[in-house]
Amino acid sequence: MKWPYIPKGVLRDELGNRLYPEGDKIPENLPAAYQLGNYPDEQENSMVPPRQNCTSCIFFENGWCSKFKAEVKANYWCAKYQYDINDDPYYFPEGLV
Ligand code: SF4
Repeated sequence: MKWPYIPKGVLRDELGNRLYPEGDKIPENLPAAYQLGNYPDEQENSMVPPRQNCTSCIFFENGWCSKFKAEVKANYWCAKYQYDINDDPYYFPEGLV
């Protein structure tokens, strides 16, 4: 998939560096797909599957992505997103397990 040059939640400076809307630089080793994610009950970005963001990804730990070795924001996402099925309340609704 070819991702947009400026996906949702990403800005570019005059040198083409990716920035967060607040102005902080996005680490260069994060992939082109890195962009604003979605909350469990809010679809913020139509390019991203529902309910997916870094927080619920198996590679995320305290703001760090172990897949790309970079700081990430909890509400962002990339196409390497993977979740632990045992942590998914939609797959195992409470009370049914
Ligand atoms: S691999 Fe997971 S934690 Fe890392 S940027 Fe992608 S979605 Fe976020």
